[in-house]
Amino acid sequence: MKLGIVGSRGMVGQVLMERMLQENDLKHFETTFFSTSNAGGEHPFSKISNVDPKLKDGNDVNELKKMDVIITCQGGDYTKAVYSNLRSQGFKGYWIDAASTLRMESDSTIILDPVNLDVIKKALKDGKTDFIGGNCTVSLMLLALGGLFKAGQIEWMTSMTYQAASGGGARHMNELLNQMKFFTDRVMATETNLSNKILEVEKNITGLMSDSAFPKENFGFPLAANLLPWIDADLENGQSKEEWKAMAEGNKILQSTKAIPIDGTCVRVSSLRCHAQALTIKLKKNIPLDEIEMMLAEHNPWAKVVANNKSDSLRYLTPQYASGKLEVPVGRLRKMYMGDDYLNAFTVGDQLLWGAAEPLRRMLHILLENNT
Ligand code: NAP
Repeated sequence: MKLGIVGSRGMVGQVLMERMLQENDLKHFETTFFSTSNAGGEHPFSKISNVDPKLKDGNDVNELKKMDVIITCQGGDYTKAVYSNLRSQGFKGYWIDAASTLRMESDSTIILDPVNLDVIKKALKDGKTDFIGGNCTVSLMLLALGGLFKAGQIEWMTSMTYQAASGGGARHMNELLNQMKFFTDRVMATETNLSNKILEVEKNITGLMSDSAFPKENFGFPLAANLLPWIDADLENGQSKEEWKAMAEGNKILQSTKAIPIDGTCVRVSSLRCHAQALTIKLKKNIPLDEIEMMLAEHNPWAKVVANNKSDSLRYLTPQYASGKLEVPVGRLRKMYMGDDYLNAFTVGDQLLWGAAEPLRRMLHILLENNT
């Protein structure tokens, strides 16, 4: 199969390539890398056999058309600019995409195979060719709670998120670091123990957020020493697009016959990598906690149930622990004051792995199996 990879230098692209190299995925393909900004340039994978050593132009439909499979992590604007044109010029191959642009199209299948392999296989059988990675927070939530969804035991749920800066891409994460530097360069230049004048320091930092030189070109607002309770577009019904995705995409991935209501508030926080979410789950009936833990742990090899105590929660339910891991820790599991059919949970996972790159590379293997 001829494989085209677009956007390998972005955050998702780098993680995708790291995983593909770890798993030696490229040996199955003749691979061409595409870039929208450096056609003809070098890429780091030129020494691997069956890899075209030069970058091709990501906007060149004639070159893209030669591929059997295209994986893109270039972004939604790229998908908008290239996809329809490519299809109308006769591209019949598989399109595997990390961007949200095509997710809700009727011909697209959202891929998260530990949860919906049957849906993916049916789509292939039906001749579908567009396979799109889900929203990172939604995919991580479905992996963490897969056992309860599979058992059909969730009546509704809320998800309150804590999403890392890197969810916005490489430039956003870089901006967060520059925001942190902006403060520390000014406030801690000469002394590091500021505790005797800490209220003055806080006032100073809050003031610096409005400084005209403060770096906020990407986020538009300070994220360091702050949080941002809105992610993605304003749907003008009081909901952000990120919040809308939970129910829309979640139910599409599950192919629910009756949509499960999922809603909440999505918040950007200043962690660098990994998205966390606090969940309130209304169960259809009172299920004992140990049974719930077993259902979650047994659903897939990546959901890691964390004992609900202080030390394990602080050790495992953090971006620090989850970063760079395929494991999706889920904990703080307890029944709530509202009743025995109300479950509290907290989960965190690497949004660049299961939330983005991993379902894409696994889709390649599903295609390979399908073609043999
Ligand atoms: P990104 O880091 O901004 O990279 C996207 C593309 O931007 C790169 O492939 C590169 O394309 C170009 N680019 C321009 N300046 C760059 C720079 N300084 N460093 C790196 N790349 C630069 O975006 P991303 O986070 O990887 O996201 C890609 C897609 O995946 C988006 O549609 C996003 O919504 C989706 N997604 C992201 C996440 C996440 O957590 N970040 C999770 C799930 C899905 P060229 O080489 O062609 O110039």
